[in-house]
Amino acid sequence: MSRNTADHKYGTLKKYFGYDGFRPGQEELIDALLAGRDVLGIMPTGAGKSICYQLPALLLPGITVVISPLISLMKDQVRALNEAGVHAAYINSSLSENQIRRAMEYACAGRYKIIYVAPERLLTPLFLDFAHRASISMVTVDEAHCISQWGQDFRPSYLNIVDFVEQLQVRPVVGAFTATATTQVRDDILCVLNLQDPKVMVTGFDRENLYFEVRTGNKDQNLRDCLREHEGESGIIYCATRKNVGTVCTSLLMDDIPATRYHAGLSPEERQANQDAFIFDERPVMVATNAFGMGIDKSNVRFVIHYNMPQSMENYYQEAGRAGRDGERADCILLYSPQDVRIGQFLLEEKELREDMTYEEAQAVRERDAQRLKQMTFYATTHDCLRGYILNYFGEKAPRRCENCSNCLQEFVEEDVTDICIDIIRCIKELKRGYGAGTVAGILHGSRVSKLLDWGLDQLESYGCQAEVSEPRLKEIIQELIAQGYLTTTPDKYALLGLTSQAETIPPRMIMKFSKPKEKVPAKTKKKRKSQSSELDSASWQLFERLRALRLKIAGEQRVPPYIVFTDKTLTDMCIKKPATREEMLEVSGVGEAKYRKYGERFLEELWKK
Ligand code: ADP
Repeated sequence: MSRNTADHKYGTLKKYFGYDGFRPGQEELIDALLAGRDVLGIMPTGAGKSICYQLPALLLPGITVVISPLISLMKDQVRALNEAGVHAAYINSSLSENQIRRAMEYACAGRYKIIYVAPERLLTPLFLDFAHRASISMVTVDEAHCISQWGQDFRPSYLNIVDFVEQLQVRPVVGAFTATATTQVRDDILCVLNLQDPKVMVTGFDRENLYFEVRTGNKDQNLRDCLREHEGESGIIYCATRKNVGTVCTSLLMDDIPATRYHAGLSPEERQANQDAFIFDERPVMVATNAFGMGIDKSNVRFVIHYNMPQSMENYYQEAGRAGRDGERADCILLYSPQDVRIGQFLLEEKELREDMTYEEAQAVRERDAQRLKQMTFYATTHDCLRGYILNYFGEKAPRRCENCSNCLQEFVEEDVTDICIDIIRCIKELKRGYGAGTVAGILHGSRVSKLLDWGLDQLESYGCQAEVSEPRLKEIIQELIAQGYLTTTPDKYALLGLTSQAETIPPRMIMKFSKPKEKVPAKTKKKRKSQSSELDSASWQLFERLRALRLKIAGEQRVPPYIVFTDKTLTDMCIKKPATREEMLEVSGVGEAKYRKYGERFLEELWKK
């Protein structure tokens, strides 16, 4: 690449997006696209995929067509581009035919550099007419995994993309982007999209700015504590059921927490209104089922709390990953109780499978789901590094400790549990049929619950042989034995315990880690440790709050979400750099020329207000 193009690339990045450098993977993909080579970029949420095609779109001579499945995402992206001074538009079913016609005319006249379009629109006569008249330099496929029949989000309309590209007189360069892709899905994207000699870039799954935590115990109390630590910040609370969404949201409102709710049972109007209230930071706390979030691009989500455990690590990482898209520190907290496993099993049982599946296929799917739930439960109960667990799950290597998750920061005590393990195994052998972990723990502890007595389990030799160990601790040990492969559980609702061949040869000493009871940290000190950039001292913190208030005011005036005016990261950088002039303000990460023209002076004024 010539020096000139490189200068141009950095100049454009600064001018429009206000950034000084690229994040990992971005530059390689941009260079490939500019050199006319197809690309496939697999990068986690928040890694910065958009710039990988938006920047080349600005430098290539013709128009870029971006295919995106979600209306809300398109709107957000177009709004952000227009704010940054880039002419862009979208074509989807939220516009009237007349509006579409007008947008197409403008597009043909070269008014836009970037056009976002829903895949269903590609082969309509109006769009094809535009495509034949305009000069299209690049076609970008966002959420490219939707093209794969292997994935969970397959969209048949994505298959239109190939026909569309083939109909163009000159083949444009094609770029595909996604956050999630197994090897199978990746191969599908490459093959179905017919990418030519593509540059494939996979950046790691790790999101360094995310802190992971599992909290056990009283969920409502834990939730209150979390919210106190994140007072005034924006976040999402995911619940497993609509009913939970209702009760959690109501109780937060009663405590004057500015919450709103979202689930598939609400009317479309209410869903839209609540979503907007969240995006515009009028109600910065969203309580929702997993129906919420696809296509939500809000960059200043500072926490994602799971009130219930999700059904798989895939779901968990996708939902938790909605935190901290701006690269600033954000917390992902799972409130776990063993009851969540039951809820998960129940929801899986209720899950409707495709009607055309054979019995065997349905069985296989159910088994896979049960397996995924089990892996999720291991995450919730492991004492090892949580980030390490996530990365290993997705097939990546990870250091043993990340020092940024609750397990790495928590102190553990090691105990010799050899005798207890031997007794657990003996008890399972002694039982005539399979029982769940709760029952086995009850037998060993010598519980007097009527269920055990009715079944005559108090007659067993194992009954009460570990009376001094509490039932929760026994269950913890059983879970650990499952995780280490000594025990198995049936994939059904009752999760009956069984022994593996490994159980015959347990080592002479079994040492396990247990968390030390926590000292109560006062909420105030916790807040300092956890929220926002650690680079801010208390004076800057107050300034940050003032800048945030100004941002909210401007956002209200312009009817755009606050994070589209400036992200939290940009405001933090402003507090650190304290710019006094236009030139200095343009040095702040995220302040480009268009945004400076619109808002720069108001922020300078606020920064230096006496
Ligand atoms: P993705 O689509 O991969 O989820 P986005 O494209 O939405 O991620 O980018 C996430 C955030 O990172 C946005 O706020 C974006 O402006 C910011 N960002 C992207 N690239 C850079 C960069 N090179 N320097 C600083 N911030 C960046």
